[in-house]
Amino acid sequence: MIKVSEALAIVAENSSNMPVQRIPVRKALGYILAETLYSPIDMPPFRQSAMDGYAFIHSEKHQYDVISTSQAGDHSNIKLNENEAVRIFTGAFVPKNADTVVMQEHVLANKDSILIAAMPPQFSNIRNKGEQIAKEEVVFEANTLITPAAIGFLACLGITEITVYKKPKVAILVTGNELVKPGKKLPKGKIYESNSVMLEAALQTIGINKTKVYKVKDNLKATKKALKGILEKYDVVLISGGISVGDYDFVKDALLANGVEELFYKINQKPGKPMFFGSKKDTLVFALPGNPASSLTNFYIYVYPAIKNRMGFSDIHLPKLVRKLNDPITNTTGKTLFLKALYDETNVTILDGQASSMLNTFAIANSLLIVPDDVEGLKKGQLVTLLPIN
Ligand code: AMP
Ligand code: MG
Repeated sequence: MIKVSEALAIVAENSSNMPVQRIPVRKALGYILAETLYSPIDMPPFRQSAMDGYAFIHSEKHQYDVISTSQAGDHSNIKLNENEAVRIFTGAFVPKNADTVVMQEHVLANKDSILIAAMPPQFSNIRNKGEQIAKEEVVFEANTLITPAAIGFLACLGITEITVYKKPKVAILVTGNELVKPGKKLPKGKIYESNSVMLEAALQTIGINKTKVYKVKDNLKATKKALKGILEKYDVVLISGGISVGDYDFVKDALLANGVEELFYKINQKPGKPMFFGSKKDTLVFALPGNPASSLTNFYIYVYPAIKNRMGFSDIHLPKLVRKLNDPITNTTGKTLFLKALYDETNVTILDGQASSMLNTFAIANSLLIVPDDVEGLKKGQLVTLLPIN
């Protein structure tokens, strides 16, 4: 059995970046950039008015003749004289030697002239060429997450395709004779299968939106067969259940029989001890405990950073917060505890229902509180580390 820190290190070492691909910018939401991008243009490409108003050469004078109009999209080589102004609109080209725009609300306009009532400072209301980014400047470093705003920025630089890390193809294999699909009638002795939808949802939080779910009974031959096909097709395989020490837990044998290399099995933690991590070629295999709270805890602690690593994220782990403990905790297990907890601005409360089978309080938790294996107790008021989730 290994320590949580060792397990985390092994997962990080073994989860390499996915290969890269060129994709259209409009399809790139949630992908991680695999190249440093440079701007092909200045943005703005020319000096623009930031207001509807009048462009002029700043001076002490208040009276100007309006000699022309510049609408958004127009361009002209007009040169103003000292006493001349151009009617101008937001986003429009500012004539070459104009240096100031006055907003129309600050002007008394006559037919062909204006009187500036409130003189703005020189250079007001002009967006300078390249003020957001100059041509050849870095737009984004590699490993940047593509957000809606990033997509907008790339589009405004005219960039239509980028190189990103592929997202891993993920499969979930659910094991258990007792499992019935929600929506069906529940026969005696059976329970509803909940891990697959839960893990699918957890994967969506990191941008893995399409996951294939497979199901198999507690049977070595069937598990071996199912895994054979899955291991060939996917980059990350999550298995639910069948990885403990019961007589009907066949997942480990089925994985080894399929040539999966064991990287670790069992971690000194609660919940989530019976977990297997292995690999076959570039495919990572996480055999997660069947108990739903263990399954999700280990998703957050191990699967989440591994997939983020594969996707190219630079920060792969859940962020950490420090809060003041509302209640004391004892830990006589010698294991690292991950406790379902609710934090606010300053404090954190441990929730009831910490058993590995229980999702009732996990469902309302907003964090996992970490109690290290070598900490036997924490007092009320002590500062503790937690991992915000959701
Ligand atoms: P196992 O790890 O297969 O021994 O399962 C441990 C516990 O988790 C048992 O009570 C199972 O019934 C339950 N369990 C296993 N898989 C699932 C699942 N997919 N959905 C809900 N409960 C599960
Ligand atoms: Mg089982």
